[in-house]
Amino acid sequence: LAAKLKDASLLETRAYINGEWVGSETRFAIENPSTGETLAEVPDLTVTDTNRAIDAAYAAKAAWAAKTGKERGAILRKLYDLMVANADDLATILTAEMGKPWAEARGEVLYGASYVEWFSEEAKRLYGDFIPGHATDIRMVVVKQPVGVVGAITPWNFPNAMIARKLAPALAAGCTMVARPSEFTPLSALALTVLIERAGVPAGVFNIVTGLDAAGIGKALCDSPKVAKMTFTGSTRVGKILMRQGADTVKKISLELGGNAPFIVFDDADVDAAVQGAMIAKFRNNGQTCVCANRIYVQAGVYDAFAEKLAKAMGALTLGDGFAEGTTTGPLINAAALAKVEDHIADAVAKGATVLTGGKRSALGGTFHEPTLLTGVTQEMKVASEETFGPLAPLVKFETEAEAIAFANDTEFGLASYFYTGDLKRAWRVGEALETGMVGINTGAISSEIAPFGGIKQSGQGREGSKYGCDDYLEIKNLCFGGI
Ligand code: ADP
Repeated sequence: LAAKLKDASLLETRAYINGEWVGSETRFAIENPSTGETLAEVPDLTVTDTNRAIDAAYAAKAAWAAKTGKERGAILRKLYDLMVANADDLATILTAEMGKPWAEARGEVLYGASYVEWFSEEAKRLYGDFIPGHATDIRMVVVKQPVGVVGAITPWNFPNAMIARKLAPALAAGCTMVARPSEFTPLSALALTVLIERAGVPAGVFNIVTGLDAAGIGKALCDSPKVAKMTFTGSTRVGKILMRQGADTVKKISLELGGNAPFIVFDDADVDAAVQGAMIAKFRNNGQTCVCANRIYVQAGVYDAFAEKLAKAMGALTLGDGFAEGTTTGPLINAAALAKVEDHIADAVAKGATVLTGGKRSALGGTFHEPTLLTGVTQEMKVASEETFGPLAPLVKFETEAEAIAFANDTEFGLASYFYTGDLKRAWRVGEALETGMVGINTGAISSEIAPFGGIKQSGQGREGSKYGCDDYLEIKNLCFGGI
C-alpha cells in the first residue's frame, strides 16, 4: 500500500494520544476486503490507554476553548487544505481498507473535507443572544460554550467522512476529542490524524485510540465524568448501549443510527429520473450507507416500467476491485455482511418474491455479491423491516398515497426517505407525512455539509453539518445581570 502513495508518511500505523504517536505490545491486522491481503497492523489499545487519552483531552480543553473562533477556524481551514491536497492518497488508503471504488473514495474524502471547511467558517459564528430582563434592573445574555471533552465512535462504511463530520464541529465549537475508529478501517482515521497534527491542532485536542475492545473502550468513555458528550455513528443496537451507559454520568449524546429508508415512486413521477435517483440512493457504497434506499415502493401504474428500467440501469454496474478501472461497485465489508444480503434474498424468495436480476454471490468470490433486483416484495418480508446494507433492491407494489405513507412509516427507524412525484401538492403532503429526519423529493442525493443530517425515532438524535451542527457541541448559559 505504501508504494501506491505519493506521501507514504500518511500510512501511519500508530495511535495518537496527547500529541504523541503511540504503539502497543499487541497489534491487530487490517485487511483489504477485496483481496483478503493484510495491509498493516495497528495498536490494540486498552481501557488504560483510553483513560490516558481522556486525561489528555481534559487537560487540553481550557486552552483550546480560550482561543478565538477565528483562531480555531484557521487551523481547521488548514486541515481542509491538507485534506484536499492529499485527497488522492487518503482515497487510496480508504479503498485499500474498505473496498469502495477509488473515485468514490476520493469523493468521500472531499465530502469529509467539506465539513471541515464549513465548520472552519462556523467557528466564528457561535452566536448567543440578548434577552430583555424580567425586572427593570435585570439584563440577560445567553452565551454558548463548548461542552468539553467529546468521545467519538465511528463505523467502517465512511472511514474518513464519519470522523471528519464529528471532529470538525467539535473542534470548531472549542471541544476536545477522543476518537475510536472502527477496527476494520482505522488507517483512514490515522492518516487524517497525521494531517490534523500538520494543521497545527495542539497536543491533547484530538486523540485517537485504535483497539479491538470496542465495548471496553466505549464503556470507558461513557463512564468517565471527564467526558461530557458521546457522539456515535453505527448500529441502533450499540447506540442504545451507549445511551444506557451514559446515563450514570448524564452524558450528552448524539447518535446517527440505523436507517431503513423507503423510496417511493408515484404514478405521476418522471420514471427515468426516479430510476436515476434509485441507482444513487440504493447502490452508492454498494448499498452500505445508513441513508441507502432499503425498500422501494412503486405505484401500480408505473411498477412494471420502473422495474424494467431499473434492471437495465443496474446492468451498467461493474463489480470489481476498487482500484480497477471502471469498477462502480466493490465488495461487501465482510462475510457477515454478505450473509445478511443472502438471508434477505432467501427470505423474500421463500415468501414469494421473484429475482429479476442478480440474486447470488458474484463469481469474483470473496465478499462480492451481485446487484440484485426483487419484484413482488411485501411488507411481511425481512427486507421491509430490517436494514439490508447491501446491493439488494426490493420492489413493493402499492395502490394509494395513504398506503405508501403507511408502509413507509411502518418502522422504528426514521433516518432518510425519498419519493418521486410531479405533483407539487403531493410533494408537500408526503414530505410532511414521512417520519424521517431527511426527505429527498425528486432526488436520491440528500447529504451535504450545508444540510442537517440526522434521524428521528430510533435512528438517533442530534444533527451533523449545517448551521445547526455546532449546537450538539455547545452548552447554552444564561448570564443574568442584576442591579443595573
Ligand atoms: P456497524 O453495523 O456499522 O458495524 P456497529 O454499531 O456494530 O455498527 O459499529 C459501529 C462502531 O461501534 C464500530 O467502531 C464498532 O467497533 C463500535 N462498537 C461495537 N460495539 C460497541 C460497544 N459495545 N461499545 C462501543 N462501541 C462499539
